[in-house]
This record gives sequence, C-alpha cells and structure tokens, in this order.
Amino acid sequence: MAVILDGKVLAAKLKEDIKEQVAALKGEGVAPKLAVILVGDDPASQVYVRNKKRDCEEVGIISQSITLPADTGREELTGIIKSLNADSSVHGILVQLPLPDGLDGTEITQLIAPEKDVDAFSYYNVGRIMTGDYSFVPCTPAGCMELIKLSGVAVEGKNCVVIGRSNIVGKPMAMLLMQENGTVTVCHSRTVNLADITRRADILVAAIGRAGFVTGDMIKEGAVVIDVGINRCEDGKLRGDCDFDSCAAKASFITPVPGGVGPMTRVMLLKNTINAAIIQGGKENA
Ligand code: NDP
Repeated sequence: MAVILDGKVLAAKLKEDIKEQVAALKGEGVAPKLAVILVGDDPASQVYVRNKKRDCEEVGIISQSITLPADTGREELTGIIKSLNADSSVHGILVQLPLPDGLDGTEITQLIAPEKDVDAFSYYNVGRIMTGDYSFVPCTPAGCMELIKLSGVAVEGKNCVVIGRSNIVGKPMAMLLMQENGTVTVCHSRTVNLADITRRADILVAAIGRAGFVTGDMIKEGAVVIDVGINRCEDGKLRGDCDFDSCAAKASFITPVPGGVGPMTRVMLLKNTINAAIIQGGKENA
C-alpha cells in the first residue's frame, strides 16, 4: 500500500517558513504584496480568489483584490494592469482565469510585467523555464515537484511520464522533471497505447481532467503517482484523475485528492510572491 504524500501537511509547513521570510523581509523594509484581479462573477473563480487572499493574510503578505464587472473592456483592464506594473508597492500581479468572453486570457497575461508575473504564464517566464534559468515556476508543477521531493525518490535517471500537455500544468511539469534529469515522456489525447507508456513510469503525473482515468493496471509496481486532477463528480465529491484505491495498491507513494497537489499549488503562489518581492526589493538579481 502506497505512502500518502500529504499536501496539506507539507503546505502548512512551507507556510510557516514563508511566514518567517515575510517577517524578515518586512524587517528589511520590504512588505510583500500580491494584487489579484477578478473579472466577472464566476463562482469557482470567486472561491479561488478568496482562498488566495486568505493564504496571503495567513503568512503576512499584503493582498489587494480588484473585482471588476464581467463587461469590463480590454482597455480598462489594460490600464489597471499597467498601473499595478508601475506601482512599486505591488510585487506580484495575477489575473484570475478564465476571463469572461471578449477578453483573451493569454493576451491579457502578457501585459503583466515579467518580474511581477507570479503565475509564470507570460511568454518571457515560459521561455525562462524552457532554458532552466527562472525566477518563477507555474504554481501547480512547482507544487508537484515539492511532493516528489517529499517522497525522497530522486528524479534523476527515472522514467517520468506526464499525462497532459497544457501550458499551465503538463508542459512546464515536463520541463521541471527534465531539469532534474528525469527521462520524460509527455502523453495526451492522441497518444497511442497510453497504458504501455504509463506502465513504464517510475514517476507518473496525471493532469487530464477526467475522474479516475488512471487505474492500477496502468501503473508500475512501486511508482510515485502525482494526481493533479480535480474533478467535481455527480455525487458532489472531488476526485482526482487517478482511481485512488487501485493505484494506491500498487504505487510506493501517491497524492490524495483533495489534499495533495491543490494545497501545494496555493502555497507555491505565496513562494513566487516572496521571490518577486525579493527580486524587486533589490535583495537578489532577477
Ligand atoms: P487541460 O484540459 O488544459 O489539459 C488536459 C490534458 O489532458 C490535455 O493535454 C489533453 O490532451 C489530455 N487528455 C485529455 N483526455 C485524455 C486522454 N483520454 N488520454 C490522454 N490524455 C488526455 O487541463 P489542465 O492541464 O488545466 O488541468 C488538468 C487537470 O488538473 C484538471 O482536472 C484540472 O482541474 C486540474 N488542475 C488542478 C490544479 C491543482 O491545483 N491541483 C491546478 C490546475 C489544474 P490534448 O492536449 O490532446 O487535448
């Protein structure tokens, strides 16, 4: 039976470290601040933004929430982002995605100054991840890497399989695993004989968006299984992309859903905000 990689416990521990870092930065005259822009009234986005605010408050990061109506125009949003870019008291800027119809999330994200782009979605930061020379890593893959680290299993030399190739999760995840000298295979909806590939994975990351998609017969005995998926099922429960029971019976380590990658994603945003404050506070070169 697999050991559970508890993201909640690890996130709480990391939050304590971040709290200390925030206090130290404040002592040096830098008060880390994150601005979060929410456009429209999507209920899930509202929850995410509220959680981000609460997380910031818990560790002493100043949080500014900017809530705009769904019919906000591109020009108005551009103006707000530009003024936040120019505001030296703001270290991190995040636009909650998805944006309402009429606003292009990818385009809007590019307006955020790279040194304040704590989601690391801008082309500049994506490019830096490609080269392995980066200040910010997208929060979900960064959280997955911390959970793999917690397992104590070294990535170097391992067969790592990522299911999913989104810009937010799958692709940067593959880059980070490669950076750690893993041998990485990326699978997606057009992959042929997926199970043959996943069964070779020492480390398997599932970021698909389909509840229970990965079953125990698709994984190798002793694999480390990182389940990124968050799927709201008909019974109202949240389930991951992996069928927990059959995968846990074969894996050496596995992340639960909820309580695995989710809390780690949240804490990585705080870490990126601290990095942004350190860089902009002149404490380290970008
Ligand atoms: P996307 O929908 O952007 O990407 C899903 C990926 O899965 C695509 O690359 C797709 O392939 C691939 N896929 C879909 N069906 C199959 C299949 N049958 N076989 C193999 N691959 C398949 O999702 P995200 O990457 O944004 O998110 C993935 C999951 O992670 C979701 O459940 C999401 O809610 C969750 N998530 C969780 C976070 C957390 O904090 N825990 C944060 C972000 C996301 P193709 O490219 O060919 O279409």
